[in-house]
Amino acid sequence: MSNSTHEKVVIIGAGAAGLTAAIYTARANLSPVILAGLQPGGQMTITTDVENYPGFADVIQGPWLMTEMQQQAENVGARVVYDIVTALDASIRPFRLTLDSGDEITADAVIVATGAQARWLGLESEQALNGRGVSACATCDGFFYKERDVAVIGGGNTAVEEALYLANICKSVTLIHRRDSLRAEQIMQDRLLRHDKIRVEWNRTVAEVLGDDSGVTGLRLASTAGEDDLDIAVQGMFVAIGHDPATAAFNGVLDLDDEGYILAETGGTRTSVDGVFAAGDCVDKIYRQAVTAAGMGCMAALDAERWLGEQA
Ligand code: NAP
Repeated sequence: MSNSTHEKVVIIGAGAAGLTAAIYTARANLSPVILAGLQPGGQMTITTDVENYPGFADVIQGPWLMTEMQQQAENVGARVVYDIVTALDASIRPFRLTLDSGDEITADAVIVATGAQARWLGLESEQALNGRGVSACATCDGFFYKERDVAVIGGGNTAVEEALYLANICKSVTLIHRRDSLRAEQIMQDRLLRHDKIRVEWNRTVAEVLGDDSGVTGLRLASTAGEDDLDIAVQGMFVAIGHDPATAAFNGVLDLDDEGYILAETGGTRTSVDGVFAAGDCVDKIYRQAVTAAGMGCMAALDAERWLGEQA
C-alpha cells in the first residue's frame, strides 16, 4: 500500500550538494528528508583517491567521504529514504512528489540536488581501465599524472580547459577530436593551439584503450577521415565529451537550459518556481567539484530556510 507523508523540506539527491543541504536544514530544525535516488553518494562514489576536498591532510577515498557525509547528516537529524522521484508537481503548494515505490510526499520546500553523469565513450576497455588511467575529471585526477603523457577526448570547452589544466602538470597532452575543428570558444582554442605541450589529433576517435596490470599504456585511434589506425603511448585518458544532468523529472516543471541544466538565479539557488531550490552539478556545468557542490548545497539550505521563514 502506498504512503503519503508531509515534510517541511525534501532534498532530492544524496551527493555532496544534497547531503550538505541536509546537514544545514537539519541543524535549522527543518527535519529534512533526503531522497537518495539511484546513486546515493553521487559521483564521488565512483572515484577512488580524493586529495582536493579540504579538511583532510592525507588522501581519502571518495566513497568513504560520502558515507561520512551521510552519517553526519543523519546524526544531526536528516532522514534518508532510498527511493527515486519520478514526478514533481510544483504547480500547487505544498509541492507534491511522486516516488518510484508509489509513495507520495508533500513538501513545503524542495531542494533539487540530483547531479549529473559524465558521458563515456562506451568502450569495454574504457570501462575495464576506469580509475586505472581512465578518468572524466582532470581537476580531480590530473595530479596523479605528474610528468606523464596523457590524452583528452573531446572538442568542447571542457576538453580544452582540461587539456590546458593538464598541460601544467603532465609531460605532454594529446587532444583527440573526431572532427577537424573545435567547438570550444575561440579564445580557449587559441590558448590550446599555441601551447607547446599540447598537440591535437584531428579526425580521430578512440577505438580501444590499451592497458596492462599497471593501468593505461596507450590508445588505439581510428580515423574519421579514412586514415589508418594509429597507436599512441599515454598513461592517462581524460574523457571530456559532456555531462548529462539528471533533470528529466523536472522538464516542464522548472526552467532548464537547452542542455537540461536547471536555471537558478545568478549567485543563488532559487529556481523558476518559488520554494524550489537547486544546487550542485544539476545546475553547475562549469566548476563540477564536490566542494563547490557542497557549497551550493549549503546555500540552498540557507535560501530554503529563509524562504520558509518568509512564508510563516
Ligand atoms: P560539449 O560542448 O557538448 O562538447 C562535447 C565535445 O565532445 C564535442 O566536441 C563533441 O564533438 C565531443 N563528443 C561528444 N560525443 C563524443 C563521442 N562519443 N566521441 C567523441 N567525441 C564526442 O560539452 P562540454 O565541453 O562538456 O561543455 C558543456 C557545456 O558547458 C557547454 O555549454 C560549454 O560551453 C559549457 N562549459 C563552459 C565552460 C566555461 O565557460 N568555462 C567550461 C566548461 C563547459 P563534436 O564537436 O563533434 O560534437
